Amino acid sequence: MFMTPTPPFNVEHDELRESIRGFLDRELAPHAQQWEADEWFPNEVFGKLATQGLLGLKYPAELGGQGGDYLHEAVLVEELARIGSGGTAAGIGAHVNIATPPIWKFGTDEQKQRYLAPAIKGEKIGALGITEPDAGSDVAALRTKAERVDGGFLVNGEKTYITNGVRADFIVTAVKTKETTPPARHHDISFLIVDRGEGVTSAKLRKLGWAASDTATISYEDVFVPQENLLGELHDGFKLIMANFQWERLAMALGAVGAMRLAYERTAQYARERSAFGRPLSKHQAIRHKLADLATQAYTARCVTYDALRRFVAGEEPLREVTMAKLATQRASYELMDECLQIHGGAGYMREYWVERAARDARLGPIGGGSDEIMREILGRLLGL
Ligand SMILES: Cc1cc2nc3c(=O)[nH]c(=O)nc-3n(C[C@H](O)[C@H](O)[C@H](O)COP(=O)(O)OP(=O)(O)OC[C@H]3O[C@@H](n4cnc5c(N)ncnc54)[C@H](O)[C@@H]3O)c2cc1C
Repeated sequence: MFMTPTPPFNVEHDELRESIRGFLDRELAPHAQQWEADEWFPNEVFGKLATQGLLGLKYPAELGGQGGDYLHEAVLVEELARIGSGGTAAGIGAHVNIATPPIWKFGTDEQKQRYLAPAIKGEKIGALGITEPDAGSDVAALRTKAERVDGGFLVNGEKTYITNGVRADFIVTAVKTKETTPPARHHDISFLIVDRGEGVTSAKLRKLGWAASDTATISYEDVFVPQENLLGELHDGFKLIMANFQWERLAMALGAVGAMRLAYERTAQYARERSAFGRPLSKHQAIRHKLADLATQAYTARCVTYDALRRFVAGEEPLREVTMAKLATQRASYELMDECLQIHGGAGYMREYWVERAARDARLGPIGGGSDEIMREILGRLLGL
């Protein structure tokens, strides 16, 4: 449906897109239904991606990466929808988009060798642990505590809704490192890279969509974390949270763009093939108009997202455009999936059809990575309201 290459992508990116598509269609998509039913995708998926160089697209060659940049990563993120399992895409996305970037940006050389290099090889799986039972949108309210002890920190607390929370070998964890009255909020948070081990326990959560991903609650009970696992500056962790928000939100927008395009294409095909009252569904004006609207929605979501991406890779720090892209794409994706489901009729309600899963998976978008309401709050500030 779309012409290629479209800026900010060029021919090289389109070639990468073709090769990623082929790999995902061949190696991962055939298993999606099973993994969703199992509520788990195998850890070997990370190894398979690593052999294709797909876990290190934006990371330097010295660490085993491909030496590319955010645009290469953007191609992967957009294409992950092709797996047909939001949960599998989410697990991969959490590893490459939120768990490893803070180590890349703020880690010491030694931390990069110990965590980032094996993460790029698919040998160590990462998670990002920020959200807590009483601190979600209000990140600064987090309470997991890290006390200074000889040689490091003793961590106690609980994280929740953590993607890769069961399988992760290391959890990039936000902790409180200072007690002040009143709380310093933005100046008392630090980040620790916590290895799975004594005192770290996970409990998997069941959810509406993203079934194949292991979203979990993680408890930390007297977990000793050595000083060398402090990531970035002490008490300056809020900076680290903010540093990756723009990419995380762009990645979510790109994920929605990929999912919307695929859903439109498949639904249009279904409407051409399925007949009612003696002609294909697509020849009924109401359905044809609906499909025209869906194609337009998929296209506009893509334009807004690509514009924000273009500004981001140009180094503009486009907070407003990225926020708008996240806000514009997430509920739009959910609504598009619902319309696609409707066009499938009863088949759309059946587990064996991709579309009921796509609709459930898309519901996370307006909640995760900063909810729609939080995006509106940010925009309200930026627009001087
Ligand atoms: C499947 C899944 C995977 C996730 N993966 C991760 C992960 O890997 N790592 C991680 O750290 N977190 C993860 N999260 C957590 C996610 O980022 C939070 O759920 C999200 O930030 C919202 O926080 P909350 O759930 O505590 O909702 P709350 O903050 O309690 O918000 C509840 C409702 O109130 C609204 N609200 C809150 N504040 C305001 C306000 N000021 N004005 C108007 N409305 C407001 C919200 O938009 C929401 O609708 C995941 C969540 C899910 C569901």
